Amino acid sequence: MIDLRSDTVTRPSFAMREAMMNAPVGDDVYGDDPTVNALQDYAAQLCNKEAALFLPTGTQANLVALLSHCERGEEYIVGQGAHNYLYEAGGAAVLGSIQPQPIDAAPDGTLPLDKVAAKIKPDDVHFARTRLLSLENTHNGKVLPVDYLASAWSFSRERGLALHIDGARIFNAAVASQCELHELTQYCDSLTICLSKGLGAPAGSLLIGSKSYISRALRWRKMCGGGMRQAGILAAAGLYALKNNVTRLQDDHDNAAWLAQQLRECGADVTRQDTNMLFVRVPQDKVQALSEYFSHKQILLNAAPVTRIVTHPDVDREALQNVVENWRAFFNN
Ligand SMILES: *Cc1c(COP(=O)(O)O)cnc(C)c1O
Repeated sequence: MIDLRSDTVTRPSFAMREAMMNAPVGDDVYGDDPTVNALQDYAAQLCNKEAALFLPTGTQANLVALLSHCERGEEYIVGQGAHNYLYEAGGAAVLGSIQPQPIDAAPDGTLPLDKVAAKIKPDDVHFARTRLLSLENTHNGKVLPVDYLASAWSFSRERGLALHIDGARIFNAAVASQCELHELTQYCDSLTICLSKGLGAPAGSLLIGSKSYISRALRWRKMCGGGMRQAGILAAAGLYALKNNVTRLQDDHDNAAWLAQQLRECGADVTRQDTNMLFVRVPQDKVQALSEYFSHKQILLNAAPVTRIVTHPDVDREALQNVVENWRAFFNN
């Protein structure tokens, strides 16, 4: 099976499973799991922040992040298409009584600061209190420019807002920008990172920030049901991923660029290619047939009028060659 639906479909490698098997563990609710502690320390150090917290999913990490920044009746400014607004079942509003104030992102994935400024509410009983600006990096595969991050950071200081980054794929951004992670994370108060996407771990996310922020987050994680016991088994996979699978993300980016080029040569309208994602226009009347044809060829694709294709460690160049041949065969018939 060649699975191009997402980079979440990766399966842990043999070496990662060995690391999981050999991990020393303890009860992490007591803070006793040495592998969880090692992962948290290592991640905090990579971000040049004081502390980190291991959580089962990115969705829970983003929810706990928002709950730890905003109280009931406060709001966060966020992109219309951001995961922690659109794709997390409204958790911040439902579970946290935190009001989202969504705005449209610019084509480069940034939230224009003049538009953000226009949505900050004055101190008035009619309004929710604006507390937080939430950005996403990468956003639909797009890397937020570092100079934008720097200006968003100084803007947030001037306006008294906290700044959170949903960095589910922030390592893709760092690798694409050829910089160290801390060069990006210096411009935020908190960030979340997914270990279970292109980094290849089976589960796990991190929330990273100051010591006092993470100690608040620890209580919210418990309330959300994210206090796991011998979680070192999972943390070992995450630690392995951070130590072995970061620089190889460049292969995924190169594969996505190569595939975009090949599909264009087959006549496909590849509307965008950024980091490990490409977006291909498929005529509406071919969507269903494409999906069926590809699944018959053991290729999984979320076929749509704009089909998102994601590269990851479990698809190599040879697999993509096969995809190109099948693409050509389908569209030439
Ligand atoms: C995948 C993703 C998440 C959520 O991660 P899960 O582990 O699937 O809950 C959050 N934000 C972004 C941008 C993501 O891509």
